[in-house]
Amino acid sequence: MSAIPYAEVIGDPIAQSKSPLIHGFWLKALGIEGDYRRRHITPDKLADYIAERRADPAWRGCNVTIPHKVAVMDLVDDPGDIRGTIGAMNTVVHQPDGSLIGTNTDAAGFYAPLAEVDLQGAPVALVGAGGAARAVLFALARAGVGHVTILNRSPLKAMGLLAAFGLKGEVVGLAAPLPPVRLLVNSSSLGMTGQPPLDLDLSGLPDDAIVYDLVYAPLRTALLQSAEARGLDTVDGLDMLIGQAALAFELFFGAAPPEGRDDELRALLTA
Ligand code: NAP
Repeated sequence: MSAIPYAEVIGDPIAQSKSPLIHGFWLKALGIEGDYRRRHITPDKLADYIAERRADPAWRGCNVTIPHKVAVMDLVDDPGDIRGTIGAMNTVVHQPDGSLIGTNTDAAGFYAPLAEVDLQGAPVALVGAGGAARAVLFALARAGVGHVTILNRSPLKAMGLLAAFGLKGEVVGLAAPLPPVRLLVNSSSLGMTGQPPLDLDLSGLPDDAIVYDLVYAPLRTALLQSAEARGLDTVDGLDMLIGQAALAFELFFGAAPPEGRDDELRALLTA
């Protein structure tokens, strides 16, 4: 048990998580006496972890990463509408009365850098159909996008996602030519350090297209470098990572992250 308020990020593996750096930076910047730790929890220990922490009043909650985002939905008291919408939970908040509320801050974190872009009716393309794709499609559906092209290795999975989010579109293979979309998002693991590259020909994109890569290791992925070479606007994975963390931070510690410190934080995360 800990006397000072604290939150954690749990997953298996967890050593790679940058969340402690982000939350630790904000806690220090705001002078909040609190802590945010990394915790390795295997699937067989998830229920015990939640039960033990529930009894600790200093525990403000946790962020949840692979492979617990679905299983944890059964362990909170109030999962809101997450099960029927995004279908995965990344934040558990410990209420003062001891109850646990679950939510997902990935969708809002993804959307934050696009908030000023009018995507109403706009054609978009998405690479990938895994957990991150669900948050992306949830946000894009809310933004009222038009035709959605999903490029994925497993077509059936991607078709299921289009239907689940009530989106009109089509599913094609990874080698298909890109349609002239306003927004291209990579939500697959392709291009990540240690994973196969993502080879896309961007010549079919219009000059005002935005290319958004969720991968943040490396930060300047080959996809973003190609987009920059074409003069297109880009958004990297740290924007979403920081965005989803900001919402969770406020839920855990009751204060918004400090403004105007993102460049410093990004330098810390890429050091
Ligand atoms: P996931 O659920 O495991 O999904 C992985 C996706 O990548 C699936 O669509 C999968 O295709 C595809 N894929 C993986 N290996 C492939 C290969 N060798 N060839 C072709 N396709 C392959 O993972 P996730 O949670 O969605 O995460 C995906 C990426 O997003 C990761 O790089 C993660 O770090 C990043 N991410 C970033 C943030 C952020 O805040 N920036 C947040 C969440 C995730 P199939 O459907 O065919 O299996």
